This record gives sequence, structure tokens and C-alpha cells, in this order.
Amino acid sequence: MMKTDIAIVGGGIIGIVIAREIIKNTPNASISIFEKRILGSGSSFYSAGVHFPRGVNPRVQKMSLYSHNYYQELIGGNTPIYPLTMELITRSAHLDKTLSNYLPLAEFTPVITSLNSDIELSGQKKLAILQGKGGHYADVFKLVNLFMHELRLQIDIHEGVSVDSLQRQGNGYLLGLSSGEQVIASKVILAPGPWLAEPAWRDRIADLGIRIKKIVAVHIAQVPAANAPLSIFHDDDAFLLPCHSRNHWLFSYTCQEWDVKPKDITALQSQDIETAKNVLSRYSQALAKKIHDGRVFCDAYSASREPIITQLDDGLIYAGGANGSGYRLAPAIASEVIALLSQTNT
Ligand SMILES: Cc1cc2nc3c(=O)[nH]c(=O)nc-3n(C[C@H](O)[C@H](O)[C@H](O)COP(=O)(O)OP(=O)(O)OC[C@H]3O[C@@H](n4cnc5c(N)ncnc54)[C@H](O)[C@@H]3O)c2cc1C
Repeated sequence: MMKTDIAIVGGGIIGIVIAREIIKNTPNASISIFEKRILGSGSSFYSAGVHFPRGVNPRVQKMSLYSHNYYQELIGGNTPIYPLTMELITRSAHLDKTLSNYLPLAEFTPVITSLNSDIELSGQKKLAILQGKGGHYADVFKLVNLFMHELRLQIDIHEGVSVDSLQRQGNGYLLGLSSGEQVIASKVILAPGPWLAEPAWRDRIADLGIRIKKIVAVHIAQVPAANAPLSIFHDDDAFLLPCHSRNHWLFSYTCQEWDVKPKDITALQSQDIETAKNVLSRYSQALAKKIHDGRVFCDAYSASREPIITQLDDGLIYAGGANGSGYRLAPAIASEVIALLSQTNT
């Protein structure tokens, strides 16, 4: 029977960053990651990887700052993290309220026109445009694989292996794997993204009030200019990203399809494209007309819209409910997991 100090279940951006941070803190810990598909192929695979320094409340703002600093240190070399100029478009009437969501490091300053010549706001005098700093996007799948490459000799990685059962055994846990093997772990960290209904943990997390929501980001077949900004349409909770690494624009709006199942989301539907066109045409009819494809999947959302990092039982931690922000908050989520682990060590 396999034995490990810490079993991390789920190899998305959150699981791998947790592994990276545990190794940084306790280099001799024995850590195993169990991922039923391949690392980074869940919600993380579809992520637009956008980071902007924003949070719905002081706790999430603190998490956003922590993650911002973490990613800043990684920028450069072959890291697939690409800084961008950022612009914020919001109604002038509630500008102060909007700005209170963003971190001071964004240093927003008002401008007259958008840096993106395809954005047409001439008829909308009530909108304010501000330019700021601190935005970037990442190829999240590549980043997960970069971290895996870095950690390969320090942790046990099990891909294509599903954790099908989880039960207490002595002071630890017994995990039953799809491969027929069993693992004894002193501690278990569940980072399953939107796979909340897995038999091994669905009852244990049922009371957390987490729901699954579909997320849509459409692609726009036009090459963005080299200095194109990341535009945040704050009032629509939407953004327009110049995806230079793939040579097209990406537009993300807030889809309101709730209580979906990961296995049921297979392809974009016509209503996804129509809604994206409707929202984007408020800002750019030229780009809206060019929408015809994109990416669609889902994520776990908490009732408070704050990530949930909690101890479900002695030595059993859940880390998720990332609310469509799991890339940009993963480092802070990992840091809260480390803090919980250190409490369970005492
Ligand atoms: C279209 C789209 C655009 C997005 N854009 C952004 C963005 O711009 N910025 C941002 O911050 N976030 C964005 N997100 C959200 C972000 O992708 C997620 O919040 C993040 O990927 C969640 O990471 P995770 O590690 O929790 O989940 P996942 O990446 O889903 O990882 C969970 C893993 O657990 C594995 N697993 C599940 N069950 C088992 C089991 N029984 N045994 C073993 N393994 C199991 C799965 O296979 C999966 O790989 C977007 C999401 C989508 C869908």
C-alpha cells in the first residue's frame, strides 16, 4: 500500500500551486497529487488566465494583492505570463464605488478615449475610461505544466488516476484509486474545481453551499495591436483580452447558467454566442460582429463569492469555490492552505 504525508486531490492550478508552496515550506514532505485526467486539464485548461488587481471585499483584495506579488516574481524568461496595460470602463455616476474594488497599485488615471481603436463609446457620455497598471494574462495550462516540470523530482504525480473513495483510517485517511491501489495519507487536500459531486467527497462538502456555474469566453478573429489594452467593462462584469499568444481577441461575459455538471458542458451553444454579441456590442459593434467561436466550461462558486479554504475534518482540507477567479487567486488560496496545515501540525 502506498503511503504519503499529504495527498492533494485535483491537479488544476489550485492543486499544483498548493503543492509548490508546501514544498517551498517543507522541502522534505512527501506529497502526492492525484489527477483523474492530466494536470491542468480541468477548468484551468479553459481559463483566460486574466489577472487584474481587484477584489469584492477586503479579504479578496488582500488575496488579490498576495497573488499579484507572487505572479510578478515569476514574470520573465519562459514563464507564460504576459503583462498588459489595463483600462477600466464604468459609469461615471458610481466611479468611486467601482474604484473601491481595485487595489491602489492599479493607479488608475482618467483618459478621454480607449487605447483600443475598436471600442466606440462616443454615444455614451456617461461612461468613464481609466488607464491603469497591474493586469496580465497567463496560459494557465502551460503554467501548470511548468510547475509540474519544476516539481517532478520532489513530489509523486499520479495522472489518469481518479480518487474514488476517501475514508478515515487511524489518524489519517485511506484513499481508494481507480487503478485499484489504495493510499494512506496523513493529510488530504481536496482541490477538485467544479467536480463537487464526486462520490468520495460530495457528502463532506454538501454543507459548504457551493454551486457550479457555466463560464463562457468567446474568441474574436482579429489580430490585436501590439499595445492593445485589457479592457474591463466593470458594470457588465466582462472583459476584452488581447490574446497575443494566440493572435486573437477573447471576450468574457458573465454567463448565468447555474447548477451545471462538468460532464454536460461540451460545446458553445448559439445562445452563448448571441449573449456575448449583445454585451460586447455595447462597447464595440465591430468586434461583436466577428464573434463565432470560443471556449466554454464551468467553475465552483461560493455563496459569498470568496474562495473557501476550510478544514472539513482533522487533516482534511477543502480548497476551492474560486468563483471564476481560480487562476488569479491560486497563490493566496495556497497560502491559506499552508496556514491551515500548520495549525493541524501543532
Ligand atoms: C472559460 C473560462 C475562463 C476563465 N477565465 C479565468 C480568468 O480569466 N481568470 C481566472 O482567474 N480564472 C478564470 N477562470 C476560472 C479558473 O479557470 C478556475 O477558477 C480555476 O481553473 C480553478 O482551478 P482548480 O484547480 O480549482 O480546478 P480545475 O482546474 O478544474 O482542477 C480540478 C482538477 O480536479 C480533478 N479531479 C476531479 N475529480 C477528481 C477525482 N475524483 N480524482 C482525481 N482528480 C479529480 C479534475 O480532473 C481537475 O483537473 C475561467 C474558467 C473558464 C471555464
